[in-house]
Amino acid sequence: MICPTCGKEVENHNLFCIYCGQQLQHPEETGRFQTPPMQPITPQMKAPAPPSAPVNAPPSIDADASAKPFFDYLPLAILAAIFCCPPLGLPAIIFAAYARAYHLAGDHGRAQHNLNQAKIWFWITVGVGVLIQVGLLGSMVQTIITVLEGI
Ligand SMILES: [Zn+2]
Repeated sequence: MICPTCGKEVENHNLFCIYCGQQLQHPEETGRFQTPPMQPITPQMKAPAPPSAPVNAPPSIDADASAKPFFDYLPLAILAAIFCCPPLGLPAIIFAAYARAYHLAGDHGRAQHNLNQAKIWFWITVGVGVLIQVGLLGSMVQTIITVLEGI
């Protein structure tokens, strides 16, 4: 650049003229110290719009649990009570009915608890029923053998 005071060529990065000592005004420096032009402040325009709620909301945990297939012991308990052993099948039916009611009410903890009880009573009913059937079959065979021996 050219020194405005002495008119000599000086390096652009020098703050003072090496020949006359004049403080040099660098174009980029003067531009840097100028106050920036006032910009219109419009907060209402600049504020980002609030994020709109997603259309497809993720399913809640409770809805997810309800969607989970719920194995209902009620039909099995009723069948076991009819065909195996009605007195033992009754608790299985009651627990299965409670499990279904709690499941529909959304109380999955109590539903699972009653379902476990229904499961236990269902298998007790089936087990005792099978033993009774085997016993009846055995006594029938015994009767047939006795009858055949009598001939
Ligand atoms: Zn100079």
